[in-house]
Amino acid sequence: MSEPIRLHYQCHFCGMQTSKDLQSGPPNPGVCNKSPKVDGFHTHHKWVIIPQRAAQR
Ligand SMILES: [Zn+2]
Repeated sequence: MSEPIRLHYQCHFCGMQTSKDLQSGPPNPGVCNKSPKVDGFHTHHKWVIIPQRAAQR
């Protein structure tokens, strides 16, 4: 069996972090309170993948 690959994401705007399995796809966009407003409403989180340095042993 192969280990699931975990991806760690951080929001470019608010700094919120979350992790998801690769197979699960990207995290829920949600609504970011720190994102720029478009038409008076905040937009979604902007998830950026964080490279993992942790040893996988
Ligand atoms: Zn955010």
